[in-house]
Amino acid sequence: MLIGDRWVHADSGDTITVTDPATGTALATVAAAGVAEVDAAVRVASETFRSPAWRRVTPTQRTALMWRLAELIDANAEELALLTVREQGKPIDLARFLDVAGSAETLRYYAGWCTKIEGTTITASLDDERPLDAIGPAFHAYSLREPVGVVAAIVPWNVPLLMAIAKLGPALAAGCTVVLKPAEETPLTALRLGELVLDAGFPPGVVNVVPGLGHVAGAALVAHPGVDKVAFTGSTEVGKQIVAASAPDLKRVTLELGGKSPLMVFADADLDAAADAAALSIFVNSGQMCFACSRLFVDRRVHDDFVDAVAARARAMVVGPGTDPATELGPLVSKRQLERVGGYLASARSDGVEVVTGGSVIDRPGWFVEPTILRTEATDHRVHRDEIFGPVLVTTAFDGIEDAVRLANDTTYGLAASVFTRDLSTAHSVAGATEAGMVWVNCMLALDENLPFGGFKQSGLGYEGSQQGVAEYLRSKSVVVRL
Ligand code: NAP
Ligand code: MG
Repeated sequence: MLIGDRWVHADSGDTITVTDPATGTALATVAAAGVAEVDAAVRVASETFRSPAWRRVTPTQRTALMWRLAELIDANAEELALLTVREQGKPIDLARFLDVAGSAETLRYYAGWCTKIEGTTITASLDDERPLDAIGPAFHAYSLREPVGVVAAIVPWNVPLLMAIAKLGPALAAGCTVVLKPAEETPLTALRLGELVLDAGFPPGVVNVVPGLGHVAGAALVAHPGVDKVAFTGSTEVGKQIVAASAPDLKRVTLELGGKSPLMVFADADLDAAADAAALSIFVNSGQMCFACSRLFVDRRVHDDFVDAVAARARAMVVGPGTDPATELGPLVSKRQLERVGGYLASARSDGVEVVTGGSVIDRPGWFVEPTILRTEATDHRVHRDEIFGPVLVTTAFDGIEDAVRLANDTTYGLAASVFTRDLSTAHSVAGATEAGMVWVNCMLALDENLPFGGFKQSGLGYEGSQQGVAEYLRSKSVVVRL
């Protein structure tokens, strides 16, 4: 693991075995951080945060460092894409585009913010006790924007490099230092990123990388008094634990959590485009996307034909290892996820939920699941309520716009939503009435770092992207000067 400029093992000798999801065979062994290594990493991050080596790096120089890192990601794109596929499983083209090019672009976006962090001057209404002939205002008041300090970035395995960069980007732009804990399944891209950070010329200690288990390294990070902010992406369940664990010393917390996002299709929509979107939204990255639209709601008048069209797309998908350029649907990330998704499919079948297509894990080496569509009229089954995080779409017919919105909002999540219609009024009405932090009209998974993004309800806390996302890594200080 990377602590400062040292690559170290765990004192305990603990390791994690990284497995290839396409074959189920071991790929690599990496050091697993324990409490001692997390403590060492936080200390280094804290010392670096306060040191001239980082404090004296000007905003312009920070921008240049971040651009340099983005260029190094581009220069090593093929290696990073392959590393992503080997540890995570997704098709190589998706890794190139989403994980690697997406990471470089995200860094460049945030690099621009380094030089645009501004406080304000404030005309204060404070009592002026000076003689009447004194000139000018009696007080000069202004606010400073400062980095919050040491950031613990705890990220999942679904888009590992991009999830790490989504934390590093705003943290570095703000001038924070970072301890990154990648998911236990995907430490390899994070470790390679650590090397590139040093190659880019960042002072050692600005970014530290501590692979390890969530309940060990992750929990130690969240509990550490030297951490000022926790930036987390992952499950809602762990997100709640992080809020509780951050409470004793009131750390700042931002959470990007799960979703059960709806895709609503009205009868007047371009149904071909909507069917493409419905299939892509749930099957891309084998459904392991927080933004996946995993609940489909279709106008009853066109429901059955529409679902047939999505099912035809599902059946045509080429399933295989991510390294094969022909593959459209790769494996799930881990045996644990295979068992989890398989468990949902088994309970759906045994409870009589209609299986339109797919419905089973695939009997072959590695952790593959059939692209699946389930149909339910009642929406109380757990396949309708829980985030499955696999290639499993649940479809239900609706009657009219009010019914569609009621169904879409009937969830504890509120991450994203998609609506397909040609009617301007329907589009904007649904966008306004939908309880979600991101609404797409006639598109899906349209993401841009310049859009503030934060989940409603139990899908998150705080924002990523845009100026609001950078603000999550800053604190304001007001200064009042008596003249
Ligand atoms: P997770 O358990 O929430 O893990 C996310 C990150 O948090 C990982 O780095 C994990 O370490 C760490 N972690 C776990 N317990 C922790 C604790 N007590 N304190 C601090 N950190 C902790 O998610 P997962 O295991 O990757 O997947 C489980 C489910 O989460 C999925 O089925 C899916 O529903 C959801 N999920 C959502 C997203 C999203 O983007 N919204 C992404 C991935 C997963 P370990 O790697 O050791 O567990
Ligand atoms: Mg986990």
